[in-house]
Amino acid sequence: MKNEEIVNHIKTEKEHKYTSTGIKFWRHKEELMSYKNQTGRTVISTHISPEGACNLRCPYCSVTKRDTHNRIELDTIKDYVEKLKTRGLQAVIITGGGEPTLYSHFEELVAWLKEKQNLSVALITNGTNVDRIDDSIWRLFSWVRVSLNFVENYQDRIKFPKIEGVLGASMVYIGQTLDEMRDLSMFVPDNVKYIRILPNCLKGQEDLIEEHKKIKHLLEQLADDRFFQQYKLHGKPCSEVCHQAYFRPYLSEVDGGTVFPCDSLVLNENQMMFGEQYAICKPQEILDFLDMKIPLRFNAKELCDGCVFADNIKLLDDWYHKGIEQFGQYEEEMTHEEFV
Ligand code: SF4
Repeated sequence: MKNEEIVNHIKTEKEHKYTSTGIKFWRHKEELMSYKNQTGRTVISTHISPEGACNLRCPYCSVTKRDTHNRIELDTIKDYVEKLKTRGLQAVIITGGGEPTLYSHFEELVAWLKEKQNLSVALITNGTNVDRIDDSIWRLFSWVRVSLNFVENYQDRIKFPKIEGVLGASMVYIGQTLDEMRDLSMFVPDNVKYIRILPNCLKGQEDLIEEHKKIKHLLEQLADDRFFQQYKLHGKPCSEVCHQAYFRPYLSEVDGGTVFPCDSLVLNENQMMFGEQYAICKPQEILDFLDMKIPLRFNAKELCDGCVFADNIKLLDDWYHKGIEQFGQYEEEMTHEEFV
């Protein structure tokens, strides 16, 4: 397989369905128009990492140098969400930081988001605390993605919750053998709709391309239809402004709550923590950001070499500056389209 085939890979249906490939933006005309007209109603979804602590130590963790004592007060999260709701927020993805199910108000937070705020709620978890969360809470999620970390005795430690939404899994390729992958395939229950596999995004571009080739070969041999390869590569954004930040900001646990433009910007400098230069504002100030009273302080073109959303930035930049749009191509409702 040639490098160009990896670089020019055309996204598969599963990638579009279960990851953020950008096409879901075309289902949000109002928000895109608001961005162009600067009326401050751009937000569609938000990621929130409430908790810095984690019970695992994965070698490919992208935020190993974070302060694991950081967490966000529940009232701070509620205030942030209520503010975003006045601007159209539809969905919340609870993620890490640390392991979100360790957050002491986890159940209360999920119930409040779903039942009181009527939001779609999703979770990214390492699956090791599933039994500690009440079944009634698990049923509230639109989707849950369990990270299949190859820790010792993972088969005994990782559990899959019973949810009514879409249950998925994700794993990082760290050189697993075909036999290990067969074991994993047997371990993952049938109700898990997909298993995403991707290389360790902390690696450089050349290594990522090589890893993608190995993953492709591995999956061909494995022949389990639930697996799909996400062709994540680093790409410099074409724009100085990270347009995507206005549609899906990220509330991190850093310093008890700090808003960043995305949840993967640690890939830019490989510092294993969220760099202060990217910070947008405190959660209480989020409306000032959406109203463009607080500008983005960094130049994405210069500082975001590791961006895995470069295609999304280009799509939004082309829409903003050149009026290039594809609304008509995506008239049908998509699965979980509120999770852009
Ligand atoms: S890494 Fe990409 S998505 Fe994240 S802030 Fe930079 S340009 Fe935006």
